[in-house]
Amino acid sequence: MRELIAQIDLNGIVNNFLTIKSFVQKRNPTCQIIAIVKADAYGHGAVEVARALESCNVYALGVAFFEEAVVLRHAGIKSKIIVLFDREVDGLFKYSLVPVIFDLKQAEVLSKEAYRRGVILPVHIKFETGMGRLGIYDNPFETIKKIAEMKNLKIEGVMTHLSKAEDKEWTQEQLKKFEAIKKFFHEIRLNKIRLNKTRLNKIRLNPIFHVSNSQGLAYDNALFDAVRPGLILYGYGFLDNLVPCMSVKTRLLD
Ligand SMILES: *Cc1c(COP(=O)(O)O)cnc(C)c1O
Repeated sequence: MRELIAQIDLNGIVNNFLTIKSFVQKRNPTCQIIAIVKADAYGHGAVEVARALESCNVYALGVAFFEEAVVLRHAGIKSKIIVLFDREVDGLFKYSLVPVIFDLKQAEVLSKEAYRRGVILPVHIKFETGMGRLGIYDNPFETIKKIAEMKNLKIEGVMTHLSKAEDKEWTQEQLKKFEAIKKFFHEIRLNKIRLNKTRLNKIRLNPIFHVSNSQGLAYDNALFDAVRPGLILYGYGFLDNLVPCMSVKTRLLD
């Protein structure tokens, strides 16, 4: 019988993280990294990868689902964890997680629960600027106003996903829509756009903006305040000096 062993190079992951960070920070010195560790860190072991990234002071980790975040917290991971695609409510508070909001209903539920608990919940809002994925698509400006007026939410981040990052023109169209959303937040902060509730704390409305997955790193105007590399972190992408971090070995048993 043959056994397959996947060997993971954690130093390689650290190397790739630092490579990505220096690449983006050369273009935008304040750009942070939200390292995507969903799907067991693309099969590399989420806990071990998260530990390695935490030791590099990663800005945040990104997982797809709530349960993935729980595994990391139980393993002692303290970093900020952003949950990309989940409607979990209670557990967010219990484990100090940051949800991504993709519709108004979800925002309402979270706002109510945060209010009930007497805490401010940081959230990221996802807008759909391409096609077909999860995210706020219709009336983005109205939706922003509504969420901004909700109690006990702090809009910590605003994001979109590049649906065809290999297509330059398409990507620029998406970025244009995203820029308009960013501008709208700016105008709220400048009081050019008035919210109904004036008691609103402006500090709660100073989000970071983030767009790029691995492929999106190729566009200088897609870097914003943070980037969300997944695949490239594990060594697969267009940057020089990346280290592929998984090697599969087979042991011959006689
Ligand atoms: C998976 C994922 C990423 C990372 O994508 P890669 O192409 O692997 O870099 C970034 N953002 C979101 C929302 C994702 O779901």
